[in-house]
Amino acid sequence: MTTETGGPDLPQERRLVTEVPGPRSRELQERRLAAVASGVGSVLPVYVAAAGGGVLVDVDGNSLIDLASGIAVTSVGNSAPEVVSRVTEQVQAFTHTCFMVAPYEGYVEVCERLAQLTPGDHAKKAALFNSGAEAVENAVKIARHATGRTGVAVVDHAYHGRTNLTMAMTAKNMPYKDGFGPFAGDVHRAPMSYPFREPVEITGEQAAARAIDVLEKQAGADNLACLVIEPVLGEGGFVVPAPGFLPTLAEWCRQHGIVFVADEIQSGMCRTGAWFACEHEGVVPDLVTVAKGVAGGMPLAAVVGRAEMMDAVHGGGLGGTYGGNPVACAAALGAIATMEELDLNAAARRIEQTMRDRLSTLAEKFPALGEIRGRGAMLAVEVVEPGTTTPDAATASALSKGCHERGVLTLTCGTYGNVLRFLPPLVMPDHLLDEALDVIEEVALGL
Ligand SMILES: *Cc1c(COP(=O)(O)O)cnc(C)c1O
Repeated sequence: MTTETGGPDLPQERRLVTEVPGPRSRELQERRLAAVASGVGSVLPVYVAAAGGGVLVDVDGNSLIDLASGIAVTSVGNSAPEVVSRVTEQVQAFTHTCFMVAPYEGYVEVCERLAQLTPGDHAKKAALFNSGAEAVENAVKIARHATGRTGVAVVDHAYHGRTNLTMAMTAKNMPYKDGFGPFAGDVHRAPMSYPFREPVEITGEQAAARAIDVLEKQAGADNLACLVIEPVLGEGGFVVPAPGFLPTLAEWCRQHGIVFVADEIQSGMCRTGAWFACEHEGVVPDLVTVAKGVAGGMPLAAVVGRAEMMDAVHGGGLGGTYGGNPVACAAALGAIATMEELDLNAAARRIEQTMRDRLSTLAEKFPALGEIRGRGAMLAVEVVEPGTTTPDAATASALSKGCHERGVLTLTCGTYGNVLRFLPPLVMPDHLLDEALDVIEEVALGL
């Protein structure tokens, strides 16, 4: 297969030269079906040849507008110049030594940068891993050592990964858990604040009291090592809890010696218009899990938090062969430099403004859009039967499919599968974002 050059110099245009997927993608899909386990899915089977800025170019020469960023990963854009140059330099110097065998500066520098960027000015340390699920698992390991307790509290609609412990922590059965048990024990689930779905309107503080009551009655605060929560739900539907929910839970954790872990794997690293989504409510977590957007597409994850907690684990208790791989660390340093140079927090806020305006106007003409929500460039519409909160997954899926056919890559999510979510690269050019919104509107009004 030929390799095309990606990055921001790719023509920033939506261009359809075949149907989507086209003949070459369909050929590759045939090969894939014979070779790749069918448990691994793909949202849209167009095979990618190059990507950059706000577009993905497929093997048939179609150029699609990317509203997915590989699930909030390529926030700096695919093959961002700073990522490519640092990765290239690192690959030529050395590719792997294992940090636990012979260390290198890049790992240390990523930990230093994450300590600076995460909320709070207390002493912090970090440890690096390969995937989000691995970061969550390690945050729990650290919290257990730091507290001498074992219980793990999570909330409804949570998504924390696909490993055994993180499946237990994840709420939704299909497709994440079904038939994969038995799951790790001592995981306790509390009700989430989900403003659109509250039977009667309640404040964030009241929703927190409801969650705390369940945890105190069913787990016991003294048995809990940690509460792990996404400040904006990711796979669960981009739900933003009512104001006051997170601060109240954080304060309760502090009072009871429970480690407050913000799972910022999807919401972190400029995605919501702040380095971390907790900042929107002034919440300072004890530990933060970071992955997805941190390394411009290279696999890297981290747990960052209070130095004394991070240091509670005995030497050799944390790690892994590839965790903090030097190439992934170089990519992270390039991605962070890009976020700073291009002020991608401001970019995420601009994207929010544009999208909210356009989607609100659309909701007036297309009442199935029950709620527009999210923060920054982590925005979604919950699709319902008009005038109700009854989920309409079929319409959400029809919207997404219509976008795909017209060259706009969108994703769905949510416990009921009825949420259309938007995660554009933060370097998305304005004209492409506008065009993507035109397409969404055209699809919605044509349904
Ligand atoms: C994606 C995600 C994970 C899991 O990350 P992987 O890298 O897929 O293991 C965990 N938590 C949240 C909030 C996520 O969005």
